[in-house]
Amino acid sequence: MTETIEKNEKQTLGFEAETKQVLDLVIHSLYSNKEIFLRELVSNASDAADKLRFAALSDESLYEADGELKVRLAVDKEARTLTISDNGIGMTVDEVKKNIGTIAHSGTKKFFESLTGDESKDSQMIGQFGVGFYSGFIVADKVTVITRKAGEDKATGVKWESSGEGEYTIETTEKEARGTDVILHLKEGEDEFLESYRLQSIVHKFSEHLDIPIVMKNESKDEEKEDEPDDITVNSATALWTKAKSELKEEDYHEFYKQTLHDYQDPLAYTHSKVEGTNEYTLLLYVPSKAPFDMWDREATSGVKLYVKRTFIMEGGELMPRYLRFVKGIIDSDSLPLNVSRELLQQSKQIDLLKAGAVKKVLSLIEGLSKKHPEKFDIFWAEFGSVLKEGPIEDTKNKDQIAKLLRFASTKTDGKQTLTLPSYIENMQEGQSKIYYLTGSAYATVKNSPHLEVFKKKGIEVLLLTDHVDEWLVQHMPEFDGKTLQSVAKGDLDLGEVNKDDATDETTDDKKDDEALNSILEQIKTTLDGKVKDVRVSSRLTDSPACLVADEHEMGAHMERIMKAAGQDMPASLPTFEINADHALIQRLKEETDDERFADLSNLLFEQALLSEGGQLEDPATFVQRLNKLLQSLL
Ligand code: ADP
Repeated sequence: MTETIEKNEKQTLGFEAETKQVLDLVIHSLYSNKEIFLRELVSNASDAADKLRFAALSDESLYEADGELKVRLAVDKEARTLTISDNGIGMTVDEVKKNIGTIAHSGTKKFFESLTGDESKDSQMIGQFGVGFYSGFIVADKVTVITRKAGEDKATGVKWESSGEGEYTIETTEKEARGTDVILHLKEGEDEFLESYRLQSIVHKFSEHLDIPIVMKNESKDEEKEDEPDDITVNSATALWTKAKSELKEEDYHEFYKQTLHDYQDPLAYTHSKVEGTNEYTLLLYVPSKAPFDMWDREATSGVKLYVKRTFIMEGGELMPRYLRFVKGIIDSDSLPLNVSRELLQQSKQIDLLKAGAVKKVLSLIEGLSKKHPEKFDIFWAEFGSVLKEGPIEDTKNKDQIAKLLRFASTKTDGKQTLTLPSYIENMQEGQSKIYYLTGSAYATVKNSPHLEVFKKKGIEVLLLTDHVDEWLVQHMPEFDGKTLQSVAKGDLDLGEVNKDDATDETTDDKKDDEALNSILEQIKTTLDGKVKDVRVSSRLTDSPACLVADEHEMGAHMERIMKAAGQDMPASLPTFEINADHALIQRLKEETDDERFADLSNLLFEQALLSEGGQLEDPATFVQRLNKLLQSLL
């Protein structure tokens, strides 16, 4: 990729194999909305201008004495071309090859990896990725790009050309003015894009509030009249966020979002505000309606752009905390110096204040959804709920506010994450003082867990936590609203005063004097030596014969499995084995006189308990042998 092109040499290079397929899909699925190609190309042009403005902050000469940045749309009716030109940063040969000659950049590769082969599904997915430059091929059967990097010699221009059929050519060329021309050779039947009024109406729709003038030739100019301008500016070219809210309609906000923040769909919600004072800034922040494909990619940066006095400075750069990484938008500071560096950004007090302010705004935006637009909140939760759950872990300052926004599944929500912690507390039973939960890898694993038996019997609701992040969440949130969060799979269960008159309560204490029982507890403990720490009579079980519990301060079986799966070496912590003294199998054990059968049955009970909480047997083959032996004895 780094080999250079000799002057006047023309190279023909192949796209990556997948490019053609991506292009076909793009063209096919976006054709019904084909005018979006203009939004994409104008958006690239505007980004190129932003990049130049930023680079010029430290090197004024890059402007080459032309500091008036703009995008130009020009048509040639005879040649049937539409050209989108900018005088932005431009590209070198290597950049052209890398940025538009391969699909390895940005989202396209990821997009390709996630294709399912089902055309209708794949078409819908395109919306999540953004296809940018390639959208030109929706209306053009050939695209020519002529570009020259700002600050370089005019002989370093590059001409790239492709009909989107798997190959492109690239050669050097002279280009007087810096920046990029994208020339679309329109397909048969696409002549509407040669009409000035049509182009203007698309610009109004998509690019009205882009912070850069979009100009076209003034076709109605009377050549006689000297004072009439050659060009007309077709958009208002004022950054949308600088306008008063009262001047803007929801539609304006939505179009601006799609134009500048690279999404095909309308956002779910937005917040726009200006903060005055010594640290002045304007925020325009959006919650998308769909999670981005790279939401779980640790390297992915946030979609919030930082501006200083309307000059684009940078994108991403931890402007939002990780748990709000789905937020997109703009923060424009009036108080930071224009020459802020990344280093400065990391340790500036003003930035900290600005970030804190932005977080507050987003949290109240989400709160507003939960209170006033439950149907939107449901969408939000389905897309971003598991990310928001990182909030109380990462952001201790706003922990309580975030915790109130979280939704959980419980033993009473039928698998749906709909319960808030405040409503859990409202539903608590007489005498209940704790918030009970059970963690596990899947809803199916936890919903029938033996650990829940006594809770179901007493009508006590238990949160069922099966998201990956949940284990960390409960560790960082030992209590909510003064109520301890308590795992039902840990510690010696004490349901205290809850539904005391219930008949199940004459359990453990009455069993203390049962000698036969005490002696099998000892015998089981000896049999399961090395596998369990202790054996005791359970107060959790009503139907199952046995279960495993961790100590109060231990991390618990599910967490241990997560850590092991992540490659962590875990010190083995042994569980306590609890048995249900009333269960027929335990009664049977009490009477068992044959040591071998006693050992088999104890081991089976232990292995069952392990399986029923989603654990894995160390020696499954022996388990199967034991079970078969038992089954055979029944024949
Ligand atoms: P995206 O904009 O999502 O990165 P695109 O396919 O639209 O994807 O563009 C790929 C890359 O090509 C851009 O990131 C940019 O680096 C470069 N590019 C596209 N258009 C221009 C332009 N007009 N000027 C400078 N660079 C451009």
